[in-house]
Amino acid sequence: MPEPAIYLDNNATTPMVAEVIEAMEACARCQHANPASQHRPGREARNILESARDRIAELLGATVGSREADQLIFTSGATEANNLALCGLAGSPPGRVILSAIEHPSIWRVGEFLAQQGFEVQTLPVDCHGLVRLDRLEDLVDEQTRLVSVMYANHETGILQPIAEVAAICNRFGVPLHTDAVQAVGKLKIDFTSMGVDALTLSGHKFHGPGGIGGLLLRSGTQLQPMLRGGHQQGAMRPGTESVEPAVGMRVALESAIQKNLSGAHPLEAMRDSLEAKLCASLPDVIIHCRELDRAPHTCQISFLGADRQAVVMALDQAGIAVATGTACESGASEVSRTLLAMGCEPALLDTSIRLSVGSLNTMGEMDLAAQRIAAKIRHLREVNRRRRPIEAARRGV
Ligand code: PLP
Repeated sequence: MPEPAIYLDNNATTPMVAEVIEAMEACARCQHANPASQHRPGREARNILESARDRIAELLGATVGSREADQLIFTSGATEANNLALCGLAGSPPGRVILSAIEHPSIWRVGEFLAQQGFEVQTLPVDCHGLVRLDRLEDLVDEQTRLVSVMYANHETGILQPIAEVAAICNRFGVPLHTDAVQAVGKLKIDFTSMGVDALTLSGHKFHGPGGIGGLLLRSGTQLQPMLRGGHQQGAMRPGTESVEPAVGMRVALESAIQKNLSGAHPLEAMRDSLEAKLCASLPDVIIHCRELDRAPHTCQISFLGADRQAVVMALDQAGIAVATGTACESGASEVSRTLLAMGCEPALLDTSIRLSVGSLNTMGEMDLAAQRIAAKIRHLREVNRRRRPIEAARRGV
């Protein structure tokens, strides 16, 4: 049996923690009914589901339990929640939709779809640090704008966007604002009410909860067109039988993540920073993107000049370290980071950049070991490239 890999791809997905598995198993053993059924087992399932819904919304700083309560719609994950937010808030064409240049494919590909439907889809550029250009937003947004979507924490660099300032601009024109907060939930304090957004996306498997469940948190009174047709579940906004165990798992995962990460020194940040410091000490010419800015505490986007990113991912895999070149949904493909591209990074940085992301099941010991192995592999790859260069030049007759 090979040793388990040091898993540094927690932005792609996280392993479920024990308390989540236990809570889901206990729930599955004690109930099996459809929460839409009228009989007692159905009503019991409904109570468990609604208490998970309220608790998650409450932990995210939403208003619960009153007439003005915000609404949490459970979905199959963030991709569905993002599709629902964009299509549901944009409504019918024509109209303008503004999306930041560094969004996840589950946003920008929906933007392509909306453009085909007849919307005017505008890209909000970012500056060289990856921060959205508020001056450009001021130019783009007007009363005719249907929707603005700007992510909270970027999945590739971790950079945090000034959501409150974006919201202030949108609010001036009465334009709904959506934020994809997938990489922030469970790692940073989320206060839905004070953020000023109208809709927020989350996904259970990104904070050690189960896969196959996520949510769209909607401000009270926000108008949304459903994407699916069917029963009356979730106010007919997202029909289909609601899954009780995954909702319970996501609730426990969020409680556990908040308790571990947000009640004192941040363990993920400590591990990420230690890994970065060790890599900088052994490889003085590494470039850590957005290091001096406000970043999600678990994410590191790093360029190892002179070492091709695909080769690095494969070499590290052989060395027992699981890392990614970027967005998990694009893995298999060898596209460069859209985020770095939008920031105007040079090809030499784009081609040598990988993402390291830590999670609650990592340890400080793993950071030491990972830094040693990464440094050794990078030195080796650079040496191989250095030797290969004159041979290739000779072949080309240079
Ligand atoms: N949004 C962001 C920022 C992500 O990082 C991801 C997953 O990588 C998604 C959306 C899609 O999440 P899901 O796998 O839950 O559909």
